[in-house]
Formats: sequence, C-alpha cells, structure tokens
Amino acid sequence: SSLFADVALAPRDPILGLNEQFNADTRPGKVNLGVGVYYDENGKLPLLRCVQEAEKAMAAAPKPRGYLPIDGIAAYDKAVQKLVFGSELKHVATVQALGGTGALKVGADFLKHLSPNAKVLISDPSWENHRALFTQAGFDVQTYPYYDAARKGVNFDGMLAALNAAPAGTIVVLHACCHNPTGYDISPAQWTQVVAAVKARGLTPFLDMAYQGFGFGLKEDGEAVRQFLAAGIGFFVSTSFSKSFSLYGERVGALSVVCTSDDEAARVLSQLKIMIRTNYSNPPTHGAQVVAQVLADDKLRALWEEELAGMRIRIKAMRSALVAALKAAGVTQDLSFVTEQLGMFSYSGLNASQMQRLRGEFGVYGVDSGRICVAALNEGNLPTVAQAMAAVLK
Ligand code: PLP
Repeated sequence: SSLFADVALAPRDPILGLNEQFNADTRPGKVNLGVGVYYDENGKLPLLRCVQEAEKAMAAAPKPRGYLPIDGIAAYDKAVQKLVFGSELKHVATVQALGGTGALKVGADFLKHLSPNAKVLISDPSWENHRALFTQAGFDVQTYPYYDAARKGVNFDGMLAALNAAPAGTIVVLHACCHNPTGYDISPAQWTQVVAAVKARGLTPFLDMAYQGFGFGLKEDGEAVRQFLAAGIGFFVSTSFSKSFSLYGERVGALSVVCTSDDEAARVLSQLKIMIRTNYSNPPTHGAQVVAQVLADDKLRALWEEELAGMRIRIKAMRSALVAALKAAGVTQDLSFVTEQLGMFSYSGLNASQMQRLRGEFGVYGVDSGRICVAALNEGNLPTVAQAMAAVLK
C-alpha cells in the first residue's frame, strides 16, 4: 500500500478557511474582516511610498544576488536593534528572520536545545500560531489568563498569579504591544510588575512584537522591551515588519536574543546560526534590503513614520466610526471598549453564533471568537458592517 495511505487530512487553518469561504461568496457587498491585514481607505493593500522610493534607488543601482550571511544583512540587523532597543547593543544577538513567524521558530528551536524540558505559557487567548509553533518545536504549551470577557480588558491579577506560580525556566510568550486577538494591552505600570515577577521567578520571556507602531507610536510601543532590557535579564524578541511596512509577502522579520554579556551574545549568535543554517541556510535579500534602506535614510525613515502613523490613525478613526454607526443603528449596549483596544483587531464581544449570522445573513466575515480586523474597515464597507452587527446585537 502507499506510504501515504494513513496520512490524516489536517484541519484547515480557521482563518485561511474563512478566506476561502469569503472568496467563494458571490454577494457583491461582502466584507472580509477575518484577515490580519491592513487595507487602506479604498480597501486596497497599501504599497508604502517609502518602500517604493527604496526600491527605485535599488533598481537604479542593481546588485548581484549572492548568498547573504546566515544571520542576514548586517546593516539590517543593526537597524533592527536601534529600532527595537534604542541603540546597537553588543550583548544582543540579532538575526534576520523570515517574518515574525520565522523569528519565533528560530527562537523556539534554539530554546528547545537550551531548555528541552521547559514548559511554554502563552496568553489565553493568543495568536493561534503561538501554540502550534511551540508545540511543533517539541514543547508542552499551556496558557496564562489574559482576556477578561466580563470586564472587557485584561485579567491582570490572573496573569500575574500564573506567572508567580510558574516553575523557574518556564518560557512565557508575551505580546509586546497590540495584543492579537483581543486588542487589549497592559499598562507600563503593569509591565513593571510583570518584569519583576518574571525576574523573581527566573522565567524566560519571549516578546512577540508584530505590531510596533500600531498602538501609540514606535517609541511608545517599545515600552515592554525597554523595561525588560533595564531589568538586565535574558529574553527574546521577535520582530515583524509584515504589517508596519506592508511587506507581508517579503517575509521580513528578526529575532533578537538579549544576553547578559557580549561574550554570551557571541555564543548565542553562533547557535542561532546553526538553527538557521540547518533550516533554510540563509535568508532572502529583497525585503530586508528595503527595510534597511528605509531605516538608514533620514528622509525615507521620516516618510515611513508618517505612513505608519497614517495607518494607526486611520484604524483609530474606524474604531470610533464603528462605535458611532452602531449607536446610530440603535444599538444600546456600551461598545466604547472598541475604541480603547489597540492594533489591528477588535474582540467585538460577539459570540460564535452571532459571528455566523454576520457571515450567513450579511456576508460580513469575522472569526468565530468575535475577532474582527478593524484595519480592514473603510467608509465604503462600514455601513454594511454596522448594520449587520446591529442586527445581530439587537
Ligand atoms: N505574531 C503575531 C502576534 C501576529 O499577529 C503575527 C501575524 O499575524 C505574527 C506574529 C507573524 O508575523 P509574520 O507575518 O511577519 O510572520
């Protein structure tokens, strides 16, 4: 019989499955709020001007495409350190990675060698790939409390209690800003408590930073990283430029491992390189070259910050507009929490059957958890979304 006769059909990725369903829907007014992608006011995926400028300059001085070093473009890695930590740091090992996902995977593989028996804690709920990725890397993955559905916020006491009860060496995956899927972040003062607990318990923090610049701003969104850095402990940071540069398909990200000495960082870097070398040998050139060019050039950097702020401000405007439109449509529940959430998503508070009605009756696609992508709202689709939500909320 065939080698593959007993291969089970894996369940579809729920969000990609939703996309397929959306694409098959023939209704003209359908709206896709399932994805984790920013669309502009015309419902289009933006190609940032700073990216176009950098690409123009690159095309004007074409370069051959040799292999990159295993850890990627050196200038890129340095620019990432400056952006994430405020300056280049010798005690931090930074490698270019295939998006935020690739950074998490390189980090997870390294951690599996380093602490094979450690448990991993992710937030409840979290980006679904956190569980899958750390499980696939061989870890036992559990959760710490995060979302407080009744209070529409973070169950911070529960989170802190779980950290304080975790065995030393436990790997704790934290969303550095713009928590996906809930949109709720903890405050700087709460981060101080988290850092203290992590340090006291000897836990290993892994900060996932996929949305820097989408919360309050590039600098503001770096608060958690800065606090961990100041604590002088070892930790991991995965960076993604998929959203902030709208470079989803280029797979541009980075992994930074903060060590406690320069010598440690050199040894850690040598191990990260083995993880990369045995996985995909070395990263691709184009996306990281674009990002490096933008970050290094004062004018392009300023343009990027302006465009990133534009995305952030537009999302916030859409949050307010959605709340106002729901109110105008006669919804009496207090939905102001939607405007307090940060980043590209909103945990709308709608339950699975309400989300199914949104899809079935109105062609408005969101995740059954109630998560909607507010970064996919625009003035054109907002009335449809608001009317549909109002209908299922009444
Ligand atoms: N981490 C979180 C929390 C995310 O939401 C995402 C993307 O959706 C990623 C990581 C992965 O980013 P990338 O597309 O760069 O791999």
